[in-house]
Amino acid sequence: MTAFSGDAERGAIEISGLVKRFGDVAAVDELNLSVRAGEFISLLGPSGCGKTTTLRMLAGFEFPDSGSIVISGRSMGDLPPHRREVNTVFQAYALFPHMTVAENIAYGLRQRKTSKDEISRRVSEALDLVRMSSMAERRPKQLSGGQQQRVALARALVNKPSVLLLDEPLAALDRKLREEMQIELKLMQSELGITFVFVTHDQGEALSMSDRIAVMRDGKIEQLADPFTVYDSPATVFVASFIGQQNFFQGTVCDDRTVDSPDGAFRAGRGPNPQPVRGQAGLVAVRPEQITLTEDAHSPTHLTPGANSVRGTLASIAHLGDVIQYVVRLAGHEVLVRAPRSTAPRLQVGTPVECSWSVEDTHLFAAEQSEVVPPS
Ligand code: ATP
Repeated sequence: MTAFSGDAERGAIEISGLVKRFGDVAAVDELNLSVRAGEFISLLGPSGCGKTTTLRMLAGFEFPDSGSIVISGRSMGDLPPHRREVNTVFQAYALFPHMTVAENIAYGLRQRKTSKDEISRRVSEALDLVRMSSMAERRPKQLSGGQQQRVALARALVNKPSVLLLDEPLAALDRKLREEMQIELKLMQSELGITFVFVTHDQGEALSMSDRIAVMRDGKIEQLADPFTVYDSPATVFVASFIGQQNFFQGTVCDDRTVDSPDGAFRAGRGPNPQPVRGQAGLVAVRPEQITLTEDAHSPTHLTPGANSVRGTLASIAHLGDVIQYVVRLAGHEVLVRAPRSTAPRLQVGTPVECSWSVEDTHLFAAEQSEVVPPS
């Protein structure tokens, strides 16, 4: 199957002021989003933030109360799903059990009275694309979950949509298979040049595949940026805590970007604007992998003067494969530290330790900006 050519607009999406209410709940609340043709964009957020409702409105399964959706330069208005250049892949593959893999993939083309030759050519291309050519004659129950999801993908791709909508398509797969499929999906998407809108609550999944991530909360987009930016420069406390893991210290801003917390005073080198000022409540955040752990008795010679540090007791050590994770207990709370196995310090639980990190890796947020969410 070759990449689509022609109109540069094909596959571009323009969402403006989109609103969808269910009773008192604004599932989608004045949402604006521009997606470039051929882009892989993820809608990421906790349960109930409006991801699926947004996707369903793109697909035409649900209609907005107000706002507009333009796909490939054409206003969607109240067009039904089958008149849109989009296809949707769901978490539940919903394959026809009595049909073979090839028949499942051909189904849509048959409905549209496509010629036999063309059906056969396109089904074989789609099977190739999802690496299922050798299983064309099997029935769904003779396939693994991952293979069934590939057939569901092929069934959508065979229609050559300009936009593929994917609603948690990998959620039912086990971790290893999910990771394999993430790589394959991304490869497929760049090969085909189709716009992918991918709904997930799994930040790892969004980070690994997307060109850009729309982090959603309460029906709105809280940050829209590439994976590096949402991870390294989160726009809000919510984004900072939803993507990856963070250690937060809450207190009062007492000086230029310094927060005085019960665990000590910490200086921040970064943070979104506007920054809180002296006297306001503030939060500093540092990621576990930015912290260096040393035995308290050893002075950390590698540190630049003025780095942030805090002392505590090593409470636990967990082996996460190539990474070692430590929990350090402070008087007030706990600090999470992660280090690559190759450089991780060999320490005993119960050892007095020092956690230190650079000012440049410390982010400052206004405390009232938004509350911290637990990682998904
Ligand atoms: P999840 O990850 O759990 O699927 P989501 O981010 O996709 O969540 P939506 O399914 O879009 O969220 O739901 C957004 C809000 O709208 C939720 O509060 C949900 O309960 C509500 N909602 C969605 N569909 C309906 C419906 N058909 N009737 C009533 N409320 C609905």
